[in-house]
Amino acid sequence: MNFIQTRGEDVSKPQTVTFSQAILAPIASFGGLYVPESLPELGEAFLRKHLNSSYKVLAADMLSRFEIDIEQSVIDEALALYDKFDDASNPVPVVKVKENLYVSELYHGPTRAFKDMALQPFGVVLSSIAQKNNQNYLILAATSGDTGPAALETFKNRANVQVACLYPDGGTSDVQRLQMVTEDAKNLKVIGINGVFDDAQNALKRLLASESFNHALKEKNVLLSAANSVNFGRIIFQIIYHIHSYLELVRQSAISFGEKVYLNVPSGNFGNALGAYYAWKMGLYVEKIIISSNENNVLTKLIKTGKYDLRDSAVVSTTSPAMDILKSSNVERILFDMFGCVRTRELMESLELNHYYELTSVELETLRECFDADFCNGEEGKAYIKDTFTNDGYLMDPHTATCFKSFKTCSNPAIKTIVYSTAEWTKFSPVIANALSGEVDSEDIVALESISKTAKLEIPAMIKGLFSKKIAQDVIIEKEDIEKEILKFI
Ligand SMILES: *Cc1c(COP(=O)(O)O)cnc(C)c1O
Repeated sequence: MNFIQTRGEDVSKPQTVTFSQAILAPIASFGGLYVPESLPELGEAFLRKHLNSSYKVLAADMLSRFEIDIEQSVIDEALALYDKFDDASNPVPVVKVKENLYVSELYHGPTRAFKDMALQPFGVVLSSIAQKNNQNYLILAATSGDTGPAALETFKNRANVQVACLYPDGGTSDVQRLQMVTEDAKNLKVIGINGVFDDAQNALKRLLASESFNHALKEKNVLLSAANSVNFGRIIFQIIYHIHSYLELVRQSAISFGEKVYLNVPSGNFGNALGAYYAWKMGLYVEKIIISSNENNVLTKLIKTGKYDLRDSAVVSTTSPAMDILKSSNVERILFDMFGCVRTRELMESLELNHYYELTSVELETLRECFDADFCNGEEGKAYIKDTFTNDGYLMDPHTATCFKSFKTCSNPAIKTIVYSTAEWTKFSPVIANALSGEVDSEDIVALESISKTAKLEIPAMIKGLFSKKIAQDVIIEKEDIEKEILKFI
C-alpha cells in the first residue's frame, strides 16, 4: 500500500510514498502528513476469525492487510516485544470497573505508559529499515515525560540508530526523569534543559529544519528523523488494540458480537483517538468515539462548536501533563479523511496563520456523527480517582480519570463503554496520593509507598529499582547549547 499527503502535493515530494519512506521522512508537502491511500476493509469475517486469537496473531493479520513494505521476519520480531509485557498471553487486559464501563489497560509495557504500545514495535521497524538502506539515523525526541522513556527503551542498543532525548529539567516527575537518566546504552543521549517542555519542543523543531545542523550530520554520515506521534509508523500499531479490546468484551460475554460500543480516549496529540477512528472505518462496531481532555480543552470546543481556536489560549499545566497540548497534530488526518486535501490545507493554513479555523455546519455535523467530547479539570479528576477506588476498588491515573467525566456527560447509559487507560498509577503517584489521602507535594518515592499501602498494590520492580540505579546521563544545559551538545555526541 502507498501513502498520500493530507495537504495535497507541491513539487518537493513524490506524489505517493511507501510505508518505509513515510516513516523515515514523516512530513509531506505544505507541512502535511502521510496517510494510507485507502484503509483495508476488514469486515465481519476478519473479526469473527479472530474471536479467539492472541494479540500477536490478530496484530500480524491486521498489519498484513496494509501490505506494507516491511519483511514478515521484521514484523514478527517487532510484535514479539509484546511478549515482554506483564502477561505475554494478553499484553492489553480489559477489566470491568462498573456497570457498562470497561477499562482497556494500555500500560503494561516496560515504561508503564501507553507509548510503549506503538514505540516498542516501531523501534524494531525503524532500525531494520535503516540497516537495510545502510543508513545511520539520529532520532530526536522532545518529551514532557512519557515519550522520552519509551523512545529510549525501544531504541537502546539497536543498530544504525542513535537517540538524542530532550527533557525540561524539573518539568517531569521523578520516575519519568529516572527512567531517562538511568539509561546507559552507548547510542542514547539524554539532555536536560533549563527551560520548559515548549523550549525542548521548539529546539527539536528548529534542529529538524536547520540546514546547517542537517549538513553537519551528513558530514558524519547521519540522517535525521523524529519519533513523534505524527509518524504513521506509530499510528499503525495503535489500531490493533482497539480491535483487540472489542473482541475481549465479546470473549468476556460483556457484549454480543456486532453490538456497538463507545470508545472513550484520553487525548492529547490524537494518535490514540485516530487509531480508534481507523479501526471503526475498517469495520469495528462503534457507536461513537468520545474524546476526553483536561483543562487544555481545544478538542472539546472543536467537537462541540466546530471552532479550533488558539487565539487567546496558552497551555496550562494540569494533573494530566501528557495531555497538556493545544496543537493536536493528528486531528489533521481526520480532517483529510472527512473533507479532503484541499479543505485540509485551507484549515491547517488558517490555524498556522490566524491560530483559528471554523468548520461549516455541515462539516461539524459530519464530525459529530463520529465524535463527542468533554473535559475534566484536576479537582474533578481527583474525585473520580478517589470514588472509583473507594466504590469500585479500581485504581487509575489522572489521564484515565478524565474519561470518567465524559462517560457521564456524553454516553447513552444503555451502551457499553471502553475507556482507554494510558498510564499506570506509578507514573503519576503524587497526584494519586493526593487524591486518595490528601497528601500534598510528596516526592514520588513517598507517594508510591503511600499508595502501595493504601491500595495494597506492589510497586513494580522496574519502578522501585529506578531509585537505586546508577545515574548514567547527567547533562543539563542551556537551550542555546543543545546543537553543540548533540554534535559532540554523534
Ligand atoms: C501520550 C499520552 C496521552 C495522549 O495520547 P495521544 O495519542 O497523544 O492523544 C494520554 N495519556 C498518557 C499517559 C500519555 O502518555
